[in-house]
Amino acid sequence: MTDLEKTAKDRGIKHFLISYTDLFGVQRAKLVPARAIGGMAKNGAGFAGFAGGMDMTPAHPDLIALPDPDSFIQLPWKPEVGWLASDLWMDGKIVEQGPRNVLKRLKAEAAEKGLQVKSGVECEFFLITPDGKDVCDTADRQAKPCYDQSALMRQYEVVAEVSDVMSQLGWGPYQTDHEDANGQFEMNWDFDDALVTADRHAFFKYMVRSIAEKHGLRATFMPKPFVDLTGSGCHAHVSAWDGDRNLFADDSDELGMSELGYNFIGGIIHSAEALCALYNPTVNSYKRINAPRTTSGSTWAPNSVTYSGDNRTHMIRVPGGGRFELRLPDGSVNPYILQAATIAAGLDGVENKRNPGKRLDINMYTHGHTVTDAKKLPLNLLDALRTLEKNEMLKQRLGGFIPSFLAKKTEEWNSYCGHLTQWERDHTLDC
Ligand code: GLU
Ligand code: MG
Ligand code: MG
Repeated sequence: MTDLEKTAKDRGIKHFLISYTDLFGVQRAKLVPARAIGGMAKNGAGFAGFAGGMDMTPAHPDLIALPDPDSFIQLPWKPEVGWLASDLWMDGKIVEQGPRNVLKRLKAEAAEKGLQVKSGVECEFFLITPDGKDVCDTADRQAKPCYDQSALMRQYEVVAEVSDVMSQLGWGPYQTDHEDANGQFEMNWDFDDALVTADRHAFFKYMVRSIAEKHGLRATFMPKPFVDLTGSGCHAHVSAWDGDRNLFADDSDELGMSELGYNFIGGIIHSAEALCALYNPTVNSYKRINAPRTTSGSTWAPNSVTYSGDNRTHMIRVPGGGRFELRLPDGSVNPYILQAATIAAGLDGVENKRNPGKRLDINMYTHGHTVTDAKKLPLNLLDALRTLEKNEMLKQRLGGFIPSFLAKKTEEWNSYCGHLTQWERDHTLDC
């Protein structure tokens, strides 16, 4: 009996969701009855990669999703179903562009250097109406809604259920808040190994959507669903460990960050514009970063490639405690590529002892214009993709993922350019 067959028996699982995350960060799955899980655990579930978001053609052989038993999660809101994250194979070989495969490879490369990268993610999301047109709570209209107690408690049924599920799964949830936009929330759970966090991040999005639907609502992680409201970031807190020792911690430094940590940050600063394509992978992403201030005062998203101490107006914040917060990624980031790209750039920084440059303590929103030498973030997806295309380090470290990603994302950009917007008509019709 395979481990998964035993799990099915012990836990009363009737069906398994054999799931993988595609190039775009979307989860694809097959629902497999428990009677068939033994075979699937050995041989994997077959998918048509062409239809499954993987830059393949209908002529490709089956894409095989091989479930990883370590990722097993019993759905607390439907306990007869077990979810499994998968690695991707084809023709007996690992699929190079598979996002989870890429992260596993980068994790192994970090381990060779004696580093275990750990991460915690802060996935902001909106609870909206099922038709997607408005925030779900029509009473949530305050101009400055951040931490709004009443608006938070009006969504108690949804967020408490998500939090209870996280407790049951042993993730260590510790806080939930109403964020800076109407209808926007954030739920935090404990940081962990980058792969564990990536699997949880992927599952979290599925779970929040499912539980919101159960309550007649819809959840979205879209980076900027409403033009005049703050967007949804997906900040990542990053540290590197050797067993129980946090290698980023150094009490003698003003920010509590070790030289290794600064070099890791230096790697991210060095490749930031190219990383932007991976951290902010949608057309809509660029409406969050570089955005003008919103009605609530500020967007809280970075506009330049800078770092600081405990100051939220920069791309990287070092709040102390031997970690840094990467504020660039948004809700559309692929959970696996977020971690893989961060490890790739961080290792580049460590190996090349990259200096992150001058730390800035100013408010970038009000005084950013005074820093003339700070690199600016790309203004749109095309600029970011072009920068990524030129970044040999990321191309080499992320391997087969990059050409597939660039090809599919360029298609997406071209499809977007095929649309006329109302703004263009309003501003150009009478020119
Ligand atoms: N929503 C902000 C963003 O787009 C972040 C707000 C915060 O600091 O939590 O990144
Ligand atoms: Mg937040
Ligand atoms: Mg944060």
